[in-house]
Amino acid sequence: MHTYIHTYIHARTHTYTHIHAYIHTYIHTRTHAYTHTCMHAKRMERVYKGRYNKRVFFPTVNDRQKININITTIFTAMVTGHGKTRAYLHRFKILEQANCPCGNGDQTIDHLIYRCSILHTQREIFKRVVLKSGNWPAHKYELISKCLKSFLLFIKSINFDIL
Ligand SMILES: [Zn+2]
Repeated sequence: MHTYIHTYIHARTHTYTHIHAYIHTYIHTRTHAYTHTCMHAKRMERVYKGRYNKRVFFPTVNDRQKININITTIFTAMVTGHGKTRAYLHRFKILEQANCPCGNGDQTIDHLIYRCSILHTQREIFKRVVLKSGNWPAHKYELISKCLKSFLLFIKSINFDIL
C-alpha cells in the first residue's frame, strides 16, 4: 500500500513538489507503524484528489506563499494516519463523545497542537524549536513550512492509546 501511495504521489510530483517532499518524508517515517493501511491510503487518496481538483496545491515551492490553502485537511490526514483524534472518531460516529481526556474541550487537531495539557511536555520541546524561527502559537501553515521535522516528531510522540 505504501508503494501505491508512493506511485500516486510520484505521478503528480511535478504539480506539487513541496507537498510531495513532506508527505513522502512522513510516509517513510510511518511505514512500519501502519495498522489501518488500507483506510489510510484511501483517505490520503481522497485528500490528494480533493486538493488536486480544487487546484489548491502549491504549483511550485516559490508559489506556495501566494496560495491560501486549507491545510487542515492535510494535518488531519497526517494525524489520523498515526492515530485518530476523538473529534474525528466522533464525527464518524465511532465514539459518542468528542471531548479529550484532559478535560479542556473537544479533541481536535488544534486542541492537540495548541492546547491539550496531556501533551504539555512534548509541546514545550516543539515550541522551543518553533520559537527559534518565529512566534508561538504559530499558524499550522508556518509549522509545516518552517518546522516540519519537529512537527512530525511532535505528532509521532502523541500516544493515542492514552488519549
Ligand atoms: Zn486534551
